Amino acid sequence: MEFNLEKITPEERRELERNVFMGTLDELKAWARSNSLWPLTFGLACCAIEMMGTGASHYDLDRFGVIFRTSPRQSDVMIVAGTVTKKMGPLLRRLYDQMPEPKWVIAMGSCATAGGPYVKSYAVMKGVDQIVPVDVYIPGCPPNPAALIYGINKLQEKIRYEAKTGKRVTGR
Ligand code: SF4
Repeated sequence: MEFNLEKITPEERRELERNVFMGTLDELKAWARSNSLWPLTFGLACCAIEMMGTGASHYDLDRFGVIFRTSPRQSDVMIVAGTVTKKMGPLLRRLYDQMPEPKWVIAMGSCATAGGPYVKSYAVMKGVDQIVPVDVYIPGCPPNPAALIYGINKLQEKIRYEAKTGKRVTGR
């Protein structure tokens, strides 16, 4: 369909609005990034079982462009799924440091968010935000796959919003 922009009809306007998108290069990059999030394969406890279930055929995370990678060098998201012990903390931080920028962190479940049922244990960190910056927190013990998908959708929104407004949205 050809358009004469001088004499555009309401029908042609609707056709244009459906098919033409305007934006900045940053918004385009954020759109691409938010639709191809590659999490580091990384599970620490029972929440990881839910994460694996979310990646499997029934919930099929691939349809959101979420593809698990086995190397931090190829990943841009860390989903912290499980209990973070004080012994594990420095190793988790090292993996985070090995991920290239830009990168994001999802704290999945009450253990990763605040220590969960082990909050009184001397061996467990009271939240992974003590060692890495968290973008999205997902409550639950464990959160079900729908909750993880919701959290990933929120991260996608956040990436696009930050590119559009230039404002940094923190997870705190
Ligand atoms: S939040 Fe609950 S389900 Fe998740 S790792 Fe902790 S104890 Fe396990």
